[in-house]
Amino acid sequence: MKEDEMNINKSATPPLAPELIEQFRKIVGERHAITDAADIEAYVTEERNLFHGRSPLVLRPGSTAEVAAICKLASEHRIALVPQGGNTGLVGGQTPHNGEVVVSLRRLDKIREVDTASNTMTCEAGVVLQIAQQKASDVDRLFPLSLGAEGSCTIGGNLSTNAGGTAALAYGVAREMALGLEVVLADGRVLNVLSKLKKDNTGYNLHNLFIGAEGTLGIITAATLKLFPKPRAVETAFVGLKSPEAALKLLTIAQGEAANALTSFELLSEMAVDFSVRHGIDVRDPLSEKHPWYVLMELSTASDDARTPLETILTRAMEEIVDDAVIAASLAQRNNFWKLREEMSAAQKPEGGSIKHDISVPVAAVPAFIEEANAAVVKLIPGARPVPFGHLGDGNLHYNVSQPIGANTADYLARWHEMNAVVFEIVLRMGGSISAEHGIGVLKRDELPEVKDKTAIELMRQIKAMLDPLGIMNPGKVL
Ligand code: FAD
Ligand code: ZN
Repeated sequence: MKEDEMNINKSATPPLAPELIEQFRKIVGERHAITDAADIEAYVTEERNLFHGRSPLVLRPGSTAEVAAICKLASEHRIALVPQGGNTGLVGGQTPHNGEVVVSLRRLDKIREVDTASNTMTCEAGVVLQIAQQKASDVDRLFPLSLGAEGSCTIGGNLSTNAGGTAALAYGVAREMALGLEVVLADGRVLNVLSKLKKDNTGYNLHNLFIGAEGTLGIITAATLKLFPKPRAVETAFVGLKSPEAALKLLTIAQGEAANALTSFELLSEMAVDFSVRHGIDVRDPLSEKHPWYVLMELSTASDDARTPLETILTRAMEEIVDDAVIAASLAQRNNFWKLREEMSAAQKPEGGSIKHDISVPVAAVPAFIEEANAAVVKLIPGARPVPFGHLGDGNLHYNVSQPIGANTADYLARWHEMNAVVFEIVLRMGGSISAEHGIGVLKRDELPEVKDKTAIELMRQIKAMLDPLGIMNPGKVL
């Protein structure tokens, strides 16, 4: 699909007057107000080149006060703003499609406090996820949010998209890891609900409104995050099996034996593994023979006896559920298992066009979903190659479909929405969601009103109008 097929309104923002640029520049300082087109380029494109925006000005504030001053000035002059963190989002939410001013939060990169007794860490929005993980590890704690883009995505972006990732099974999604936030509102007011409290029943839970809002309600400038005990032992297995049903049975056994010690449970189709082995750098299949389906599962325990119930689980499942399995014998081997999983998205590119779906259905419905969706997409486009993989433990699949071998890529991608419609019909019938963890942005904006409860959409619009009456906060995204 091309960006111009996405019905993005390209006319909204008038050019920015030089005096206004000057006023913005005064707030952040000469060096941090970028107007040079070549320097702006990195902020208006994204890694996959699916979205390409334009902007006259990128601001890089260095404090909450500067963000507040930017928003105040912007609201006085009705200037639209697009908040941006690591620019790794997958739905076009961080791209200025209509010449908006980009507010990059990357310079807000201080870890303000780590409190190991309360098990909290207060980070500014621009802290890179991997840095936050490392900081937690340095004080013998775990910050469990983990995803492929962790080397460049930021805490502010993670919360704004309510990111999921590979450890959501045990620790929840980003929302569940935030105790409180500091947010700059569209008019420049600062909402300080930074809190270390697990228990705080003093009225509406305001911070949760901004989590998953994709920058449409305000700019997150800091967050108080939960820390967890650092695992002493981590055990990882790569398993070959016949079907998603078998994987579901294995999941049930694993959760029964291990409960919360089961931290990841990823389902991988043969095609997804094949692509990763074929196109990934230094990727190997850990099993000697091919299987129709694979599971990458990981268990971790904080206790000192340094053993997880992984072997017990696999022994119980070996007879009829699991066909073959290998447990990582070293950290290097564990990393190899994960590399195969992490290369999976990128490895689809050399196979031509890929129509993507980030969906969730109830965990029990995953096998039926895969069966129905595989049949439906091949019926729609004969020869299309489903490449499902994802977080079975969360009922979240990246249901990607590669083009038929030898097909014309542009012709194939032109059918993006048509295929989405076929897949989403099955998702909705099964009680699922059309966006499990990547968000709405512009990519799914037009589908949202069709799939969500009417009253919910009405309330979302009313909240948006109340918090951002001038419509300057990331306009055209989500709603
Ligand atoms: P950006 O891309 O800069 O922004 C994303 C959205 O948040 C935009 O709408 C933007 O306006 C808004 N925003 C950013 N910062 C702020 C702020 N401070 N205040 C208000 N709004 C803000 N996602 C998953 O959930 N699970 C995965 O497993 C996963 N894997 C990924 C793997 C790869 C290789 C890539 C490229 C992406 C992946 N993602 C995944 C997508 C994920 O949404 C982002 O990686 C991440 O959460 C976004 O963080 P960011 O700092 O890059 O935000
Ligand atoms: Zn994912």
